[in-house]
Amino acid sequence: MNAILQLSTGVFGHPLAMDISSVRARLEHMLDILPVRGLIYGWGEKPGLFSMLGDLTRARGVETYLWLPVFADVQHPQEADPMLLWEPAHASGMHPIAGEEFEFVCPGSRRNRESVLKSFDALTREFLPDGVFLDRIRYPSASGGDPHRFGCLCAACRERIRAQGADIRRMEARVRASEPGTWSVPDSLSEGVFHFPDPDMETLSRIRRETITEAIHMLAGAFHARGLRVGVDTFAPALADLVGQDLHAILPEVDFVKPMMYFRTWAPAGIPYEADGYGPAVSGALQRLWGEDITRKSSMKVQLQSLSAWKDIVWPGLEINRVPGFCEISAGDVDSSVRLAAGSGCETVVLSWNTLQATDEDLQTAADVMKTL
Ligand SMILES: [Zn+2]
Repeated sequence: MNAILQLSTGVFGHPLAMDISSVRARLEHMLDILPVRGLIYGWGEKPGLFSMLGDLTRARGVETYLWLPVFADVQHPQEADPMLLWEPAHASGMHPIAGEEFEFVCPGSRRNRESVLKSFDALTREFLPDGVFLDRIRYPSASGGDPHRFGCLCAACRERIRAQGADIRRMEARVRASEPGTWSVPDSLSEGVFHFPDPDMETLSRIRRETITEAIHMLAGAFHARGLRVGVDTFAPALADLVGQDLHAILPEVDFVKPMMYFRTWAPAGIPYEADGYGPAVSGALQRLWGEDITRKSSMKVQLQSLSAWKDIVWPGLEINRVPGFCEISAGDVDSSVRLAAGSGCETVVLSWNTLQATDEDLQTAADVMKTL
């Protein structure tokens, strides 16, 4: 098996506090003990950090990907076309981890998509990596409340929804008349895509997945034209469509996808957190349609096997960091996650989402189990 290390260097405006020589020592240790194929790093920048990472990985023959957020926590939010939520006052908090605000911009905006290329250029002056890793290329999740279920309702997005025949006023009336979390319950599942009995919701859901696929198509095309590789961070297969990520449409566009198989994370993208946030009606439908309790780690197999046609480029993200209050894992979790990913036919896993917050014990456990598989 191969490992990709995800290494957070902080966020825009708040780079990693750790000094460069300590990061180097930590990374060298991981490169020494693990079968490392690649490094995903970013996006907080400080002088000398990225060139150090570049020099070290190049000397070890390790692939590199600059980690960039696309539609949330962007580099220049004041220059972006904002996302307009429906009745934002009804949206509950995103329980963000410090420095991760999950503040979204409009995914339909061409300007927002193009700004990713500018951020890439600005962050690769010291070192040009082999590729880019696109994060937050999705809609906000409805786990933050029904207002998030619409996605963006800016003038351009409203017009697109209207032109495709969905009636926003009718949907608004339905949301108001329903108990929270009950108006958009899927009733069937086909190739990772959910279908809804409500025709407006069905159309809206299609528009959302087309918008995200289109953004990935545009960005992957632009990066590929420069000879760079492209990876994408996604929700787990059981949830991805609910944030507009149609994995069967995304996979042919990119070099790899990292579905976040986060079973211990109580924050956005964490599977139990999301299922809880959708409420019992939607989470009950998810269990029924997937035929498994998708919040249990044993569902990793059925989720990953739904993408078996692309198993070479499906690199599951497995939790390796311990973040008190948000991600409580044990060495046993690391061991079972790696085994389940291998048992699902995946040969590359991404140790997520920040190996700098992994304990020596957990890293050693990952190294030991990977040796045996
Ligand atoms: Zn919009």
